[in-house]
Amino acid sequence: MTAEKTFAVVVAGGRGTRAATKTPKQYLPLGGEMLLTHSLRAFATHPAIAAVQAVIAPENADLYAQAAAGLPNLLPPVFGGESRQASVANGLAAIEEAGPARVLIHDGARPFVSTHTISAVIEALSVAEGAIAAQPVSDTLKRQSAAGGIDATVARDGLWRAQTPQGFRYETILAAHRSAPAEGATDDASLLEADGIHVALVPDEPTNFKLTYKEDFALAEQLLAGSMETRTGLGYDVHRFEEGDLVTLGGVDIPHTHRLKGHSDADVALHALTDALYGALAAGDIGQHFPPSDPQWRGAPSHTFLDHAVGLVRQRGGQVVNLDLTLICEAPKIGPHREAMAARIAEICGISASRVAVKATTTEGLGFAGRQEGIAAQAVATIRLPTSDGDV
Ligand code: MG
Repeated sequence: MTAEKTFAVVVAGGRGTRAATKTPKQYLPLGGEMLLTHSLRAFATHPAIAAVQAVIAPENADLYAQAAAGLPNLLPPVFGGESRQASVANGLAAIEEAGPARVLIHDGARPFVSTHTISAVIEALSVAEGAIAAQPVSDTLKRQSAAGGIDATVARDGLWRAQTPQGFRYETILAAHRSAPAEGATDDASLLEADGIHVALVPDEPTNFKLTYKEDFALAEQLLAGSMETRTGLGYDVHRFEEGDLVTLGGVDIPHTHRLKGHSDADVALHALTDALYGALAAGDIGQHFPPSDPQWRGAPSHTFLDHAVGLVRQRGGQVVNLDLTLICEAPKIGPHREAMAARIAEICGISASRVAVKATTTEGLGFAGRQEGIAAQAVATIRLPTSDGDV
């Protein structure tokens, strides 16, 4: 890879009327996340992409914020225009200041674009002004007659189906958009073809299809289910009581006869959950990521740690399936705070509260918990990660 910067423009400004839903299709759920989240992540986590510029409809700003939450390398979204072509032009203009050498333009409704395809398109730009992901046509093609039957068989030799990403030298595609007629182009490569500029064809995978109709989502769910695996992690933590009048458990402040001693806010529940997620990722433990010797974590709210672990899951293309927490103490009573804790944990993790269990037990007066010297917490986290995650 050269030092030249490659940006991505992800086009998500459409209203998605063909999918026949009120919510635009790019914000519909797919594999427990939004469709657009998958498409954004493919570029946001690709090592050769400097930053991702999304183009959205103004009325979908809130939905976009949800879709983008936790992903790295995203620029603030810009608003699209009346047509796809106008939306791309807005996205290209927005990154001009940053001085990209190359740009990849991608449909937000193609969630299955592979790392390999992104790399191959970028690679092709070292010798071509433009390069697009495409698939050779393998079906026999028929032209329909006026009567609705078959008029003729069309030769398919040399025919390809244009997909995205479509990559270009930035200055070339910017100039093409600025001089293009206002309407008509359904892809970006066609703007260069009109000027006789060479655009390379990069063979793509058949799974990189565009979700257009409602039925496409069922197929996409099946594809996704086949590409994910389940992982489990265990977390355990103990904090000792000291003088005080409040404990923070599961992100909820509970009045008590003591407080928990610790470098951070000593939220033993969130620490156990954080370690459970690191465990599921095989990504070390909380002490490695947030060393107690580092003064910046003194008195830190523990949601910072849980945020970080959930962020790692999302960056690796995964999702949190459920969390199961057990608090071990004689006091304070956990029951009255159980729901508030589950709701707070769910909020931090961006999942439904129905995926978070908060349980409590005593130790019948035995051991340190029984002597009320401290509180222990155990947690199990279940996550889904792309099957390919462990193989790279
Ligand atoms: Mg701890």
